[in-house]
Amino acid sequence: MSIIILGSTGSVGKQAIEVACAHNLKVSALSCGSNVKLLEHQARMLGVRACSVRDPEAAKALRLSLADTSIKVYDGDDGLCEMIAELRASKVLNAVSGFSGLRPTLAAIDAGSDVALANKESLVVAGKLVMARAKDAGVKILPVDSEHSALMQCMTHPQAVSRLILTASGGPFFGKTRAETANVTPEQALGHPTWKMGPRVTIDSSTLMNKGFEVIEAARLYDISADKIDVVIHRESIIHSMVEYIDSALIAQLSQPDMRLCIQYALTYPERLHGLTRRLDLADIGTLTFYRLDYKEFPLLGLAYEAEKRSDAARVALNAADEVAVELFLDRKICYYDIAELVCEVVRSAADENYKDYAQIAEADRAFREKTLELARKLPQPQPICD
Ligand code: NDP
Ligand code: MG
Repeated sequence: MSIIILGSTGSVGKQAIEVACAHNLKVSALSCGSNVKLLEHQARMLGVRACSVRDPEAAKALRLSLADTSIKVYDGDDGLCEMIAELRASKVLNAVSGFSGLRPTLAAIDAGSDVALANKESLVVAGKLVMARAKDAGVKILPVDSEHSALMQCMTHPQAVSRLILTASGGPFFGKTRAETANVTPEQALGHPTWKMGPRVTIDSSTLMNKGFEVIEAARLYDISADKIDVVIHRESIIHSMVEYIDSALIAQLSQPDMRLCIQYALTYPERLHGLTRRLDLADIGTLTFYRLDYKEFPLLGLAYEAEKRSDAARVALNAADEVAVELFLDRKICYYDIAELVCEVVRSAADENYKDYAQIAEADRAFREKTLELARKLPQPQPICD
């Protein structure tokens, strides 16, 4: 078995390398956006056959520094897909962040590789296409996202499922009033209470946009209507999600919050191996708490349910607007609450359409990004208090 790790310089990617090293898994290729210093170190350590770098200048630099090896360096989005097609690994772990992860997911399916999927955006913007293409190609989509990994582990009787229950930590601002969080800074929003993740998914966790994406992700992975997917606040992040069956049995998966467990299960599925995750001592934890969600406090979660019921266009708009808005917030160009305002406006303005292929989805993504930037330009400049 050989695996390719895409986005190996990111939060999930680095943990995937730890898992691969712990179990001597053969890694044949890696990829990153531009962090070639770390990529070179990883490539030499693992002895990979190939690397791909999105930024062509950075790729050129990596080619030079790897000149004493036989490692082939690809560049750009096309190069990444070419590498996936040529290597035909048994499994591709996709930990690229954002919409850019979609093409490599499709390329991996077309190469006949099973996909260990961290890039939830693939399922948000093109879930129907991805799942149908995987079915036709006879490859598996194995979720890495902790909630969906939990659902996979609890899915003992797929025909008898009555409800999926996703847990949400509630992020750093849970329980605070809107006024209390009106002027939060990127640094405050990046402080997630239980998980250490990349910047976009951390901000999305604070607005619960991430949970909205996960509702859509679960709907696609388990082919279930969003009406049957609930979210419950669970601050401790010990129960990662639950499946309720028609006889009212509720099956949950518990562990320390540690992505290495989910990554490992997706890489070794259906086998379980000894892991790097600490064991759970329930007596030590003592109490697990659960709260009902106040949807009014988190408009982006409600918007995701709405987008899930509406159309491909609404879901592409949801991701595109959020990707742009989060970047603007991290660059201090808009305030925290502008994220939700912008995303709601772009999604509500989207005409309901469905897309048949990647080209249509990519074109829609581009248009919704432009629309978000256009609306952001009309917003009042953030006051110094936002800095
Ligand atoms: P990071 O931002 O930490 O890492 C992103 C990785 O993707 C980096 O290797 C980055 O390279 C690379 N990358 C970024 N943009 C591009 C691009 N346009 N083309 C190719 N490569 C690119 O993200 P995370 O690891 O946190 O998240 C990755 C995915 O996993 C996301 O979809 C996220 O929602 C999902 N996820 C993450 C979890 C977590 O715990 N972190 C949990 C569940 C899901 P470079 O370093 O050069 O910029
Ligand atoms: Mg998650």
